[in-house]
Amino acid sequence: ESVVYWMRMEDVRVKDNRALALASEFAQQNSLPLIVLFVLVPGDYKAHDRSARSIDFRLRNLRNIKVKLQEKNIPLHVITHAGNRFRLPEKIIDEILPSMKATHIFANMEYEVDELRRDIEVLEYGAKQNVRAMFVHDRLAVPPGTFKTGQGKPYGVFSPWQRKWQAFLEAHEEHLFEAADPEGNEDGLRSHTIYGKLFDGEVPECLEGFECRDRDLMKVVWPEGNEVAVQVLNRFLYCSARKADLGLVDPRTMGQEMSIDLESDDDVQLIEDEPTKSKAKLSLKGKMASPTRLRDYASSRNSADSNTSSRLSPYLASGVISIRTILNKVKKLLGNKLESGRDSGPGTWVMECAWRDFYNHVTAAFPRVSMGRPFQEKFAEVQWEVDEEKFNAWKEGRTGYPIVDAAMKQCALMGWMHNRPRMICASFLVKDLMIDWHLGEQYFMQQFMDGDLAANNGGWQWTASTGTDPQPAFRIFNPTSQSETASPDGAYIRYWVPELASLSDKAVHNPYEKLSPKEFAKLNYPAPIVDHAKARKRALARYKNPGYHG
Ligand code: FAD
Repeated sequence: ESVVYWMRMEDVRVKDNRALALASEFAQQNSLPLIVLFVLVPGDYKAHDRSARSIDFRLRNLRNIKVKLQEKNIPLHVITHAGNRFRLPEKIIDEILPSMKATHIFANMEYEVDELRRDIEVLEYGAKQNVRAMFVHDRLAVPPGTFKTGQGKPYGVFSPWQRKWQAFLEAHEEHLFEAADPEGNEDGLRSHTIYGKLFDGEVPECLEGFECRDRDLMKVVWPEGNEVAVQVLNRFLYCSARKADLGLVDPRTMGQEMSIDLESDDDVQLIEDEPTKSKAKLSLKGKMASPTRLRDYASSRNSADSNTSSRLSPYLASGVISIRTILNKVKKLLGNKLESGRDSGPGTWVMECAWRDFYNHVTAAFPRVSMGRPFQEKFAEVQWEVDEEKFNAWKEGRTGYPIVDAAMKQCALMGWMHNRPRMICASFLVKDLMIDWHLGEQYFMQQFMDGDLAANNGGWQWTASTGTDPQPAFRIFNPTSQSETASPDGAYIRYWVPELASLSDKAVHNPYEKLSPKEFAKLNYPAPIVDHAKARKRALARYKNPGYHG
């Protein structure tokens, strides 16, 4: 007999992994071998538009994990289910588990509709075949459905939900407890004595149909491993932003000139200093006194001109690091209290982490969003343009709007984008080009290293005004003024669109308007593919009358 922990796409780690820790405890108590199972399902990844980059990242992380599991006498068994993705439960219960003589299967919950249906089937069908399945919450700080509105309904607006989220975590600190190990092992996983050797195969180098063409670059910009994710987090918590780090940089080296011993953060604390009603200033106590990306996040988070944000999203989206580890580190820095709110850098950042929880809550409570439906159903009939040429210009960064082009080039080359440019690009596609947001949602998933169904759908629906935003359709980003905020001195644009590198700080945001036709022609840069003022009117008219094609 054996016990299986079924690792999924969103929990690729050993440390603080609840289902794995439970499976490990159960196996040990019952003197059974524990096997970690990972089933690659290409049909699922195609259906969800997962990028080759993100699949390759998972495989790299699995190879990294395999070594750690081996040290604990736990084999990692990776198999590919190339057949119909909806037949996976039968394959698991009828073929895979019997081949391992497994009687118990543990997994962390996934909240998307197909995944929930699949797990219910595993649970029900497994019970008939004498296999016990156990699914637990792990992905989020607060599980979906934990609180409802006064009318007993799920929340559809972020702010009141976030206040509940904050209060809940204050009252239930056990939700942030990390998986503990009675033997005192740091990663929370027991050592096993019985080894299910038969199932110890290799992790494939590559999955057919998901060949990652820029793997070498991706390995530098997004190195694998939980230790790396912790380093990326530490750099964000303890080091300042640098212009030099805005692009294709190994995140482990960010802010390295500060030469801080990031291994031990025991005597580092962020403390409130001269708190005022609206703005609590924070300073560092202990061995560091300089500004940090976390401390400055409230004011710098909308700037794409340097590495102002954490860049943890690929690690969080694949679960290489747990949200509990992250929030606990911030909590410790704040003197053991977790704040969230726009008044301080840490508070603002914790709020961004809350958005991640929120969009998962929306996914679980409103299954229509996983089925391609708008959250605000009244906008289902908004009329879209079908314009492949303009869509391609957007994808390739040839729109003539420098901030959009810079961001789309970053997306293609780096597999990631800062949040503000993501919103600007999404708004441009939907409101300026009037192209269906589903196409943008799909393209981002196909490109991004951090492609996450809930966050990506939430972000697109928010920008397309079909989502959970309470003041939607009138929000139409002006790409030029947004550019001036996101990249005040144009560093971001100059990095990604080198044709514009020599322009003045003013001209770089809108060269077509600011330069003479002769000067503009010399740039070898496209003229705007749409007139923003006219496009804005068109979008307003179409959103006002869904169904109207004017
Ligand atoms: P930080 O600013 O350091 O934030 C810390 C963490 O909080 C992030 O890593 C992320 O896990 C979470 N987070 C931050 N903002 C959001 C948000 N608005 N919604 C949900 N979670 C958030 N995020 C993804 O992880 N995957 C996606 O596929 C994705 N697609 C998006 C698509 C659009 C159109 C938009 C507007 C946003 C999208 N986001 C997505 C949210 C956000 O842009 C990224 O999480 C963020 O830019 C990642 O950079 P970071 O790790 O440096 O973030």
